[in-house]
Amino acid sequence: MVIRVSDLSEDVKHVEYSENGQALNTAIEEASAGCDQSFEGDPRVEADLYRYGGDVHVAGKVTGRLLCTCVRCLDEFSTPLRREFRFLLIPAAERPGMEADAGLDRYEGDEIDLGVLAREQALLALEPVTLCRQDCRGLCPGCGRNLNREACRC
Ligand SMILES: [Zn+2]
Ligand SMILES: [Zn+2]
Repeated sequence: MVIRVSDLSEDVKHVEYSENGQALNTAIEEASAGCDQSFEGDPRVEADLYRYGGDVHVAGKVTGRLLCTCVRCLDEFSTPLRREFRFLLIPAAERPGMEADAGLDRYEGDEIDLGVLAREQALLALEPVTLCRQDCRGLCPGCGRNLNREACRC
């Protein structure tokens, strides 16, 4: 979703669209960022944008569902994904001293690619470790039984 900066004003513009889940899953595989996580369907992106001079304010969220594999019991489970973000985007050539950080980014020319921001946020929303539940008992190292479902006599 490419936004034209000149189309923005001080009035908030609301945009909603879906990111391609398949493309995100390819990105996860390439980065090996996700420990067995993938997007279920296409995550939804919602954002409000407005502009003061050259400064573009973006606030929004990425929501969707993730399919994960529990690192302990290897069960697959589905979990909601939600990440809110807020950015100030300034023209590439302005205020060179200002460091890009989590809340500041730059844009070139008259275009902001919301997709780049949204995909980055979606990937940041991945869990570093996925557990089906906090107290997952995992698999028995002796017999391989799923100890959440049954006891064993090892
Ligand atoms: Zn588990
Ligand atoms: Zn056992």
